[in-house]
Amino acid sequence: MMLEIDGWQVGLKFSAAHFIPEHGKCSRLHGHDYGVRIRIYGEQRNGIVYDFVELKHKVRAICDMLDHHVLIPTDNDAVSVTIDGDTVQVSHNNKNYTFPREDVVFINIQVPSAELLAVYIGRKVVEELSFPNNVKGVEVCVDEGPGQGACEYYSLGD
Ligand SMILES: [Zn+2]
Repeated sequence: MMLEIDGWQVGLKFSAAHFIPEHGKCSRLHGHDYGVRIRIYGEQRNGIVYDFVELKHKVRAICDMLDHHVLIPTDNDAVSVTIDGDTVQVSHNNKNYTFPREDVVFINIQVPSAELLAVYIGRKVVEELSFPNNVKGVEVCVDEGPGQGACEYYSLGD
């Protein structure tokens, strides 16, 4: 059985700025509205696969942490980051940005694409929620605007 949460409908959304190094116009700083969709695969026990409320609470916390921030990847040799007190300097491809530290979220992925944001959020959901063993898999999708997104599947147990 599959349990599904559509973040566009239930408010699991965030807006953020990013750039994708070495990727044409996407290498310029710009922003998106993101929606997160989750599917939980498993067997129902007494009519329940997993608690919607707990799942939404966790994903909402992740969305709030990312919301209205600049997403800076820390797993990219082409992006250099220097933190100087309350200021963050970010350089890539001979471009230099300076941001207030509080406006930036560092993410340990190579680029903040929908694909790798799905991996990042999926990893956090799987690590930070303790799923009972009737739950066999979790799929996390990140949409860059409604109708286009990337999904990562995590197999649990066994
Ligand atoms: Zn973009």
